[in-house]
Amino acid sequence: QNDIEIKNLNKTYNQKKPIKALQNVNLTIKQGEFTCLVGPSGCGKSTLLRIIAGLEQPTKGKTLIQGKPIKKPTPKTGLVFQEYTLFPWRTVTQNIEFGLEIQNTPKKQRKKIAKQYTKLVGLQGFEDNYPHQLSGGMKQRVSIARTLANNPTVLLMDEPFGALDAQTRNQMQKELLKIWQKTKKTILFVTHNVDEAVYLADKITIMTQRPGTIKNTIKINLPRE
Ligand code: ADP
Ligand code: ADP
Repeated sequence: QNDIEIKNLNKTYNQKKPIKALQNVNLTIKQGEFTCLVGPSGCGKSTLLRIIAGLEQPTKGKTLIQGKPIKKPTPKTGLVFQEYTLFPWRTVTQNIEFGLEIQNTPKKQRKKIAKQYTKLVGLQGFEDNYPHQLSGGMKQRVSIARTLANNPTVLLMDEPFGALDAQTRNQMQKELLKIWQKTKKTILFVTHNVDEAVYLADKITIMTQRPGTIKNTIKINLPRE
């Protein structure tokens, strides 16, 4: 089954001088696949993710999640950014529970789900900490847990480890693979770091210079631990 299908997507930003960000982008991602999208800065990677997340409308073309068109933000897509975008006045648990509160999930169930994802990202013992009391890697763990707690069909990650130091980044990459293996989520991960893409992905999709288009998808056959 295809979780993500992108057909002939075009995006032009209407400025005084229009900016063509995407041109004829086609992409299919199967359920459970880990795809990395690589390409130079400014080629349109973030634009593509925002369109898949329903945050932005394409000028032309279609985006389907499990066969259904995406027209606005939905809980089916979970987006993780480089900036952690945590709520500073909420604890780790309260941050992770945020989406569940919005969906009116009963308190007891919320607590249970928050506990499960706190454990999944290895933050036991830090439940009552506020974001400013956490390291960068830990903040990104909270951000990932908060997104997964909403049980999205696809996880969209935009340079999530770009702000971390090399050692923490390596550790987070390993953790993300474990999380992926446990949750079997479909992941589309944007990076301009080829090493990172090779380490993480089943498939690497290459986007060329703006207006971004997809020229090639490479299947990686790496042994996994
Ligand atoms: P990055 O290369 O890290 O993706 P950018 O500088 O391209 O960062 O974009 C940062 C934010 O600014 C994005 O959310 C994008 O929507 C917005 N942005 C980028 N370019 C323009 C532009 N020419 N006009 C208005 N907003 C822009
Ligand atoms: P990437 O994520 O690959 O760095 P982006 O999707 O951020 O690329 O940007 C692609 C192109 O579209 C860039 O030229 C950028 O300046 C432009 N752009 C991005 N967001 C906006 C926006 N909100 N308004 C106008 N132009 C934008």
